[in-house]
Amino acid sequence: MWFSKSQEDVFKELQVSPATGLSEEEAKKRLEQYGRNKLKGKPKKSLISLFLSQLKDMLIYVLLGAAVITIVIEEYTDAVIILMVVFLNAIIGVAQEYKAEKAVEALQKMTTPKSLVRRDGETVEINSEEVVPGDIVILDAGRYVPADLRLIESANLQIEESALTGESVPSEKNATSLLTDPKTPIGDKVNMAFMSTLTTYGRGEGVVVATAMDTEIGKIAKILDEDHTEMTPLQKRLEELGKILGFLAIGVCILIFAIAFIQKRDLMDMFLTAISLAVAAIPEGLAAIVAIVLALGVTRMSKINAIVKKLPSVETLGSVNIICSDKTGTLTQNKMTVVKHYTQGVLSDVAQTASNLTANEDEAELIKSLVLCNDATYEEGQGTGDPTEIALIALGDKYNLTKEALNEKHERVSEFPFDSDRKLMSTLNKEGNGYRVHTKGAIDSILKIASTALVDGRIVPLTEQLKEDFLKTTEEMSDSALRVLGAAFKDTEQMLEPEEMEKDLTLIGLVGMIDPPRLEVKASIAEAKSAGITPIMITGDHKNTAVAIAKELGIADSIEQSLTGAEIDAMDEKAFSDNINNYRVFARVSPEHKVKIVRAFKAQGNIVSMTGDGVNDAPSLKYADIGVAMGITGTDVSKGASDMILTDDNFTTIVKAIEEGRNIYNNIKKAVIFLLSCNLGEVVTILVSILFSWPIPLLPTQILWINLVTDSLPAISLGVDPGDKDVMKQKPRSPKESFFAGGAGIRAILGGVLIGIITLLAFYYGIWEHGYRISDPDIPKEVMTYARTMSFVVIAASQLFYSLSMRHSIKSILSVGLLKNKLLILAIALGLFLQLVVISVPFLAGAFQVHNLSLQDWGIVFGFALIPLVVNEIIKMVLRMKKK
Ligand code: ATP
Repeated sequence: MWFSKSQEDVFKELQVSPATGLSEEEAKKRLEQYGRNKLKGKPKKSLISLFLSQLKDMLIYVLLGAAVITIVIEEYTDAVIILMVVFLNAIIGVAQEYKAEKAVEALQKMTTPKSLVRRDGETVEINSEEVVPGDIVILDAGRYVPADLRLIESANLQIEESALTGESVPSEKNATSLLTDPKTPIGDKVNMAFMSTLTTYGRGEGVVVATAMDTEIGKIAKILDEDHTEMTPLQKRLEELGKILGFLAIGVCILIFAIAFIQKRDLMDMFLTAISLAVAAIPEGLAAIVAIVLALGVTRMSKINAIVKKLPSVETLGSVNIICSDKTGTLTQNKMTVVKHYTQGVLSDVAQTASNLTANEDEAELIKSLVLCNDATYEEGQGTGDPTEIALIALGDKYNLTKEALNEKHERVSEFPFDSDRKLMSTLNKEGNGYRVHTKGAIDSILKIASTALVDGRIVPLTEQLKEDFLKTTEEMSDSALRVLGAAFKDTEQMLEPEEMEKDLTLIGLVGMIDPPRLEVKASIAEAKSAGITPIMITGDHKNTAVAIAKELGIADSIEQSLTGAEIDAMDEKAFSDNINNYRVFARVSPEHKVKIVRAFKAQGNIVSMTGDGVNDAPSLKYADIGVAMGITGTDVSKGASDMILTDDNFTTIVKAIEEGRNIYNNIKKAVIFLLSCNLGEVVTILVSILFSWPIPLLPTQILWINLVTDSLPAISLGVDPGDKDVMKQKPRSPKESFFAGGAGIRAILGGVLIGIITLLAFYYGIWEHGYRISDPDIPKEVMTYARTMSFVVIAASQLFYSLSMRHSIKSILSVGLLKNKLLILAIALGLFLQLVVISVPFLAGAFQVHNLSLQDWGIVFGFALIPLVVNEIIKMVLRMKKK
């Protein structure tokens, strides 16, 4: 029982030294021996079962039934064609689903948590799956515990174990306690940490005692919510539409059957026609095409550093009209440099390249506190940890007050970690025979807990005058966009509890650091604004610093557009919500204010995206329409609560993701409207012929072929259409907007009717060319075959050409770039080629009852087939002129 063993015994048994950890070599061996640290999920679907699941579909049952009937009536070619189409359709379905699944899997891999472990004496970050028994794991707030650990160090460590115990209040851990009762329940094992639980506060270290299925969570085999497929609102709406169209199709089939019965047509023929009409009318490809377009879209987005965790977010992204963004690191570079410091009334500059500087007594105290109260490391220009803290160590180096030397002399014995509510951090270090508290943080927070100040090496009361001096200097530095941090200390004889540290301190001085804005952000902000999106800055930093940077970036024009957390608290919720649209900068806020801000923006009908990185940001990320976590600086908690992760922590990526989101939605719309037009074209062709008791221009097998083979490729190609460069000049789409808004529905109907009409025309032309009329009862079989070939090729070609016109609802095919969508051009070429193959390879031509066309016929076919495209382009031209 690990919890009842001493730390030494644990190290011995697992053969590891806590100071150096395992060697990489040993870790590799153990990884082979114990396997990857992964809970077993559901087994994956095999290709065969994927294939079989494609066949579980009403439409396929109908087709299989039709195949059986054709065999019974000895129409073997028809049977073969039907079966071939079913087979091809299933293969296309498998390929789409496989591709979509692979894309989602790859995304999941990118978001697997990482762990800090000690290997060969160095702290390294590795994939949690590579953690092995014996590894020394470092825990800090916001990180998931990667495996079961026997704790060996804990500093105010708190872990939330609800995944295991159901208890959501974090439990306090203590590495030094030894438990003797072998029946100690999991929740009371204070010297252990368990896989899949979450560090919410403090720091700790532990040695891995169990991984993967050997862990407590592995034993109860509770699989985390790894695979859940969620349908997007659009997918749900399309599914409903599909159902409605399905019922309509059945209705139409019954109608046709009834009419045919009255007209005394051949019932078997009519049966097959009705079935193929059903196939034409049911938009069975929609769901698959939307799924693949979404999957390909999120893969593309991951390449521009935005990992979308949930598919519905892609749609929501397109509607975002407020981007709330953290300042530090997202709008700025998070590369801090101290450029000024202030003690006892003197503000001094620190040159960026300075070295070997000498500090006076007060300055030395200031730097000492800032360097000791610090968790970062910095050596030879390379730092790890919080950039604010790295800058402070770099400052110390310039004055030859290195962290190493100071730490050696003043060992840290306790600490009160930084959190963004207090905006303070304190450590307790040895000082002579006693101890000294070193505190650093936001100056307003320090002023609240300081009662004295250090002036010329003496501790004097913190008078109103002194306070004013400090505040004035802070404002001065903040106005020039500097981030200001204060430091304070106090001496004590005995050890102090964390809560006791931050009281009655002596204020020493201030430092001001620059954190330059990211170069690309200014342009992105301008782009967002032209796209009808308002960028909002939310920061824990000082109001003046925030506003200075906001002005520089074009987020705000004046300080009147900013509010502080304290000002928000002073307003009543309604007034805050009513006026929220007037503000662009929220400064000195804590995570709870972020929730208030999101709520107020949402109350005004906005679609809000919110960024976050800390443990306490989870509620606001969840509450926002799009919660955005930081990939580099973000905690596991924030990533878990988010809808999207930025792998580069960059504001620009959010704007790019919104652009992608808009394009993906538009592409889905194009693909769907295209498919519906094609289906409608087929329905119109058959329905009109039946209603007028004319011969039917398309045979059942021909309809199947067109509907299931030639349509799919252009539809998918439309789904991956290159983005419209003007998409960010439009206002965001309202999420309530109907899918058929903006004339999309009318266009689908118009396209369908046009395709139907020209197919009929081509058929009549074929008959008329041979001197017959459509109503003649005795049209010879060869003439029929010829006319059907014309309509068969015309309907396929017109759909293919029409797809070009679907690329934009207003712009002409030339202005969007005729050849820009290479895949679409390829799909059209392939479609035409297949059509050529079907009519010219004798055995296929026989099966589909078509024959070869002469060059002149091809000319006529193209003439007909281009009509829907041309008409649609003329309509677009009129619309463009009207708009002007
Ligand atoms: P953003 O929210 O845009 O990322 P931020 O980094 O300034 O901005 P916080 O990290 O919440 O927000 O910091 C708020 C304030 O707390 C800072 O302005 C600074 O005064 C203080 N602070 C930041 N980091 C530390 C730290 N490591 N130790 C002590 N105080 C800090």
